Amino acid sequence: MQAQTPCFKQINNIILVASGKGGVGKSTTAVNLALALSQSGSKVGLLDADVYGPSLPLMMGMQGQRPTSLDGKIMEPLVGFGIKVNSIGFLINPEDAAVWRGPMASSALSQLIGETNWGELDYLIVDMPPGTGDIQLTISQKFPCTGAVIVTTPQNIALADAEKGVAMFTKVNIPVLGIVENMSYFQCSKCGNVEHIFGKDGAVAMAKEHGTELLGQIPLQQQTRENSDNGTPTVTTDSPMADIYRDIAKKLIEQLVLTQQKNAAASGPEISFIDD
Ligand code: ADP
Repeated sequence: MQAQTPCFKQINNIILVASGKGGVGKSTTAVNLALALSQSGSKVGLLDADVYGPSLPLMMGMQGQRPTSLDGKIMEPLVGFGIKVNSIGFLINPEDAAVWRGPMASSALSQLIGETNWGELDYLIVDMPPGTGDIQLTISQKFPCTGAVIVTTPQNIALADAEKGVAMFTKVNIPVLGIVENMSYFQCSKCGNVEHIFGKDGAVAMAKEHGTELLGQIPLQQQTRENSDNGTPTVTTDSPMADIYRDIAKKLIEQLVLTQQKNAAASGPEISFIDD
């Protein structure tokens, strides 16, 4: 059991959004998932721990903001689209972070993780750095995590790295709640033709193989890329894409409930002795 820092005490579920490979859409998924959960009435926080490429400030339209502190130590998260957010990108120049060595990145992350005043949350979504190295392992162990979501494209090279992600979480006993396949297909807006640019159904097969849930398949779509670049996350727009993200959030909650039921069944009924 990990040591609970005071910052996590009032958080019901900490969910890591991870990917084996960079550029597969992990941050886009994390942002839209967090906002979809918030739209369903939950209290949500979003932590951008992607130390080598923090993109949350851009994607949430919050560039140039900085968290404040009431006591000079603990940071108060910022608020964007109704959710609490903190990002390594609010604290440092992203170009500096790109050249950090492991220990510097780890210590900056420890600060971010341990010193943000999240308050009461139903869900804290953590946008992890891509990969399965020491940094990812350390973060996974620093959080009292509920589970992980793996984002991949259907391409073989991304799937191979996503498999490493599943193996890493299994090793540290963090349940993989499901897989999101991003950039699954492209549908031409003029003729409606569907093309599987990065391959077809790769994550479907992977989910089956690992006995985990495929939470959704997200198409490659220009508007979604533009929304991210403009700081207007897709799920805040009225569109079929927004429904796809909301559906993923719904399936994630179902998996959380199932995992909790399994854990409860595994720990068995509690026996209490009553003195006559
Ligand atoms: P990662 O966090 O895995 O590095 P990002 O979420 O930053 O990936 O996405 C990489 C790029 O791809 C970004 O420019 C983002 O806007 C774009 N992108 C992500 N998902 C989609 C999608 N489904 N359709 C179009 N562009 C996407």
